[in-house]
Amino acid sequence: MNDPQSLHDLSYEELEQFITADGIKAVHAHSLWRLLHWDASLLEMESCQNLLGPLRRWIEEYVGEDKRFFLDHPEQVADIRSSDGMTRKFLLKLRDGQTIETVLMGYDGRHTACVSTQVGCAMGCVFCATGQMGFTRHLRPGEIIAQVLHVQRVLRRDYGKRLRNLVLMGMGEPLHNYDAVMRAMSVMADVRGPSLSTQRITISTVGVVPAILRMAEEKAPYNLALSLHGANQAQRSALIPVGKKWRMEELLDACRTYNQKVGKGIFIEWTLIAGANDSPEVARELAELLRGIDVHINLIPLNPTEGFAGTATATQAGLQFQKILRAAGYPVTFRQRRGIDVAAGCGQLKSERTKLTQSSAEKLQPAQSAPN
Ligand code: SF4
Repeated sequence: MNDPQSLHDLSYEELEQFITADGIKAVHAHSLWRLLHWDASLLEMESCQNLLGPLRRWIEEYVGEDKRFFLDHPEQVADIRSSDGMTRKFLLKLRDGQTIETVLMGYDGRHTACVSTQVGCAMGCVFCATGQMGFTRHLRPGEIIAQVLHVQRVLRRDYGKRLRNLVLMGMGEPLHNYDAVMRAMSVMADVRGPSLSTQRITISTVGVVPAILRMAEEKAPYNLALSLHGANQAQRSALIPVGKKWRMEELLDACRTYNQKVGKGIFIEWTLIAGANDSPEVARELAELLRGIDVHINLIPLNPTEGFAGTATATQAGLQFQKILRAAGYPVTFRQRRGIDVAAGCGQLKSERTKLTQSSAEKLQPAQSAPN
């Protein structure tokens, strides 16, 4: 028998092919697809009972552990809640025992899921906890989708809400795992399934130039967020090692190409690090650097991590940085730091597997009530 395959890895067309090859009418693919990606309750027998006989028998015969197909349904190892109650970080265990982190943020009445795309990360950004742990493996599409489904289940169960926004800013560099990410996102945006608006899906990158150009060529309909962090080659490379591989000029050219081909602006993510990239001179240099590129700049003070000694820019200095960029004509948002007390902020995600001994797991507090 071939290796078991995840039903969550399949495209709609592949799912249809599989079931029709087994004599099930193509029309049943729609019900199965909905169960997999919409209410995600295929595991509940009650839902299966409502399916028409042939599809129900197909599921009973072929879907489950040690069968031809399995479902991506990671085990929740921990559910950790920030002190302001607005952020929840889930530690999820995959089939091979690897663990990843997924974050639910519930600010301003909007719920956003931040999902991981890799176990670890190969990019090695010096201020980032995930970068500090190194790269283990890419996630499959189903493992990316399963994180969104997990957050959706929590939202429905605990808050009676639907997920509106999705950001790929968890563990890993999404564009280093391009095919799996794009497949997962096309499922998320599928109107027959989760039906998330492509305008509310944001893919982040640290600047993988060939993949940005591929997104431009394919006119990928999602938002693109570029972590820049440096206003010149030396400043950027000191924080982001892959800045040496895909140099600044090349990166900016890719941004212009993306603007032209996709017809959309780019979110520039800027981590403000005291004394490293937060001076008025750097703000002016950045304004010059981005001249002619359609961008929206997001400033966020550094979140602390164990492996980096840098500290966050003081609020006054951050606001001054913002003022200079605004005066130069850029839309700029000064973002609040969220969930840093549970290490769920930007750059803080790191698999807790190595730390999660029996005793420390006991200290993790499950969420008690809704954040809002
Ligand atoms: S910031 Fe993003 S790309 Fe850089 S090491 Fe962390 S997860 Fe990877």
